[in-house]
Amino acid sequence: MGQIIDGKMMAQGIRDEVAKGVKELQRKMGITPKLSVVLVGGDAGSQVYVRNKEKACAEVGITSETIRLDASIKEKDLIGVVNKLNEDSKVHGILVQLPLPKGLSELNVLNNIDPKKDVDGLHPVNMGKLLKGEGPYFLPCTPQGVMEMLLSTGVEIKGKNAVVVGRSNIVGKPMAIMLLEKHATVTICHSRTNDLPAECRRGDILVAAVGRPKMIKGNWIKPGAIVIDVGMNRLDTGLVGDVDFEEAKEVASYITPVPKGVGPMTIAMLLKNTLTAAGRA
Ligand code: NDP
Repeated sequence: MGQIIDGKMMAQGIRDEVAKGVKELQRKMGITPKLSVVLVGGDAGSQVYVRNKEKACAEVGITSETIRLDASIKEKDLIGVVNKLNEDSKVHGILVQLPLPKGLSELNVLNNIDPKKDVDGLHPVNMGKLLKGEGPYFLPCTPQGVMEMLLSTGVEIKGKNAVVVGRSNIVGKPMAIMLLEKHATVTICHSRTNDLPAECRRGDILVAAVGRPKMIKGNWIKPGAIVIDVGMNRLDTGLVGDVDFEEAKEVASYITPVPKGVGPMTIAMLLKNTLTAAGRA
């Protein structure tokens, strides 16, 4: 049976480190890191995520504020809010909670965040720097958390076949680039991939970021592979990943559970990025 990579425990370790870093920054520079979260509309999932982020910030001593805006806000007014935060020297990190309501362009809004405050790592400047391997920059939180989980296994990534299922800008694409940076041979799969089970079976490292409950079966997994499940699918029975955990854990060498896997690591990375932003400021 595969070893479980305990995301909740790992995330707690990172939060403790961030809390220490915050205290040090306060002592040495008199700066308290501040994260501003912009939440537009009343999407239930987003409300939960934002509350979790607020709680996590409070725990490590990061000041956070959530700016709640009506779904009917005009794009130019939303961009105005972002620009005000860009100019506010007390704000070190800005996060616009996605998805935005219909009619608002995520691209336009995200592109207006100051890249130095883009703690979500989604601004084209940060994405471009990641692609070119040019620092310093912010890495998107979820794939950054996944890399920490992979490294925690002690298994060398260099030369391994890594298969990423999903090609979103938030997870799949940056994930693939980060694995490439660590010298994996990377395959990116998506909804038009011809034989997905066969592609998955080639992965010494398999990262699932699809959004389809338990899609990846045990017999899609190469024996001994490291399996990272980014998926978060809310069913009546609870939260499940994209991987059929019960089947997969019998085949994998290491596997992340859902919940208590990648989710807590994503938030821990957001806190880390916010501390970094404040330190750089
Ligand atoms: P998107 O919907 O943006 O992307 C999903 C990707 O999966 C797309 O590239 C899509 O392909 C691909 N896909 C969809 N169906 C199939 C299929 N049948 N076979 C192969 N590929 C398929 O999702 P996100 O990347 O934003 O999120 C993915 C999952 O991760 C979700 O469950 C989300 O909730 C979760 N998530 C979890 C986070 C965490 O902290 N744990 C953070 C962010 C996301 P195509 O491009 O061709 O359409």
